[in-house]
Amino acid sequence: MRLDKMLANMGTGSRKEVKSLLKKKQVLVNGAIIKDGSTYINPEMDIIKVNGEQVHYQKYIYIMLHKPPGYISATTDDRDNTVIDILSPELQHFKPYPVGRLDKDTEGLLLITNDGDLAHQLLSPKKDIDKIYYAKVQGKVTESDIDSFQNGVVLEDGYKAKSAELIILYSGEVSEIEVTITEGKYHQVKRMFEAVGKKVVYLKRMSMGELYLDETLEKGSYRELSEKELNYCL
Ligand code: URA
Repeated sequence: MRLDKMLANMGTGSRKEVKSLLKKKQVLVNGAIIKDGSTYINPEMDIIKVNGEQVHYQKYIYIMLHKPPGYISATTDDRDNTVIDILSPELQHFKPYPVGRLDKDTEGLLLITNDGDLAHQLLSPKKDIDKIYYAKVQGKVTESDIDSFQNGVVLEDGYKAKSAELIILYSGEVSEIEVTITEGKYHQVKRMFEAVGKKVVYLKRMSMGELYLDETLEKGSYRELSEKELNYCL
């Protein structure tokens, strides 16, 4: 990998700033001053120092985002802001993308990474990973809805959803529920409620497998996964 690319990707500075650091002899590779940014380095073996500080190479990033409403779960969009726009330019250098989609108005746990294998694993329908959502639903959610969800509701297109566990937290004019699904079809939770004649008015993802939303993260905030959390995903 080129030295200037590695430094820019690790957030040392823009390509222009990196060029200037190189010119000022502030970059060492294995103890030797290197002024040419096109020099090829082995980012996993070589010791790179800028102003005496070692720059550690990281190939993958794993970010937990508390997705706010109003953002699209994609890397680019013509009209709206995407969840990637929330990340710092340093993190955007890694070319990350969201693992799966939450609707524009859905909030909560969203994993963002550039590790294609991990994303593939987590999204694989074969894995049946539990996803827990908290929702506010217009109308009284009843025991009969719990049974329907357990048996697998039939969506408007004829697809029979897999069995889902529905827990009623509050039943009233606007009910509050928690639902665990193992699938990730388009508008899945909203369509499951439509199938029992109810409308989801608020939706928040709480977990994906063993990974739970860190409730100390404000909406729109993010952090890297801890080692323990990453191990849950691998
Ligand atoms: N189900 C939905 O309907 N929307 C989401 O964003 C996620 C699950």
